[in-house]
Amino acid sequence: MSAASGTVAESGVLYVVATPIGNLADLSARAAGILGSVDLIAAEDTRRSGRLLQHLALQTPMIALHEHNEREQAPRLVEQLRVGQSLAMISDAGTPLISDPGFNLVRLARQAGIRVVPVPGPSALLCALSAAGLPTDRFVFEGFLPARASARRARLEQLADEPRTLVFYESSHRIVDCLADMVELFGGERPAVLARELTKQFETFIDAPLEELLQRVRSDADQRKGEMVLLLHGCPAAAAHEVSAEAGRVLETLLEELPAGKAARLAARITGVNKRALYERALSLKGS
Ligand code: SAM
Repeated sequence: MSAASGTVAESGVLYVVATPIGNLADLSARAAGILGSVDLIAAEDTRRSGRLLQHLALQTPMIALHEHNEREQAPRLVEQLRVGQSLAMISDAGTPLISDPGFNLVRLARQAGIRVVPVPGPSALLCALSAAGLPTDRFVFEGFLPARASARRARLEQLADEPRTLVFYESSHRIVDCLADMVELFGGERPAVLARELTKQFETFIDAPLEELLQRVRSDADQRKGEMVLLLHGCPAAAAHEVSAEAGRVLETLLEELPAGKAARLAARITGVNKRALYERALSLKGS
């Protein structure tokens, strides 16, 4: 076992502890050990985390650390770490810092030379992705889209050609507007998955093209309830026009001996990458 893997907190260490996103049985034994042995827990909402500690029969003291006080609170907590106290940071649910507070504290602690130890566990992002059935080799986590419609649409426009799987956190009262914008900007055929109430009693995955997903969410109020993660297949056309690093290398080698058209044709035969995309790359390489 490495030094970082113990279940008893060490002096002067900041532990970043993931907590359940619904099912309390998902709390790891290591997380429970650390929460029970640190000097102090910095919690996003002490009342809410109080219920988790109660469930674990723990009485570790807590202090609030949330988006409104993190900047003032972080230096104080780093001071406590510096004098040898151990500290666990938790958010309301899931992994701290993932669309949650904690970034300022972790950065400040690292700058101060404090050891920061992750205690991994649930996160809605990976939980949804692991069971959605969309490509996972590469993905983009977009977190929450802007609340204002114009800003949301502007962000979506920037993402329309993204070839990787897209993952969004979305709130129940914005999901219909968000899906409607996506249908308009990405097309109704784009495969999508709405993962709702993960690890809870009413966990639901709806796997459908965007237009159908929008209709189902519009027509069934139950599908607009609770917490949700929205996942989209990457833009298929963009993926088809992507030049992989390997294909780029093959093309560059061929370009040393051949004109752009011929090099692109051969590189497409060798690598299976789209010929036009390779030709465009070849032209830009020749140009530079
Ligand atoms: N830090 C958390 C994590 O690691 O997943 C995320 C915190 S963020 C403030 C809360 C958002 O995460 C929710 O609005 C929802 O989009 C997503 N989420 C959290 N729990 C979820 C669950 N049980 N099912 C589906 N989505 C969830």
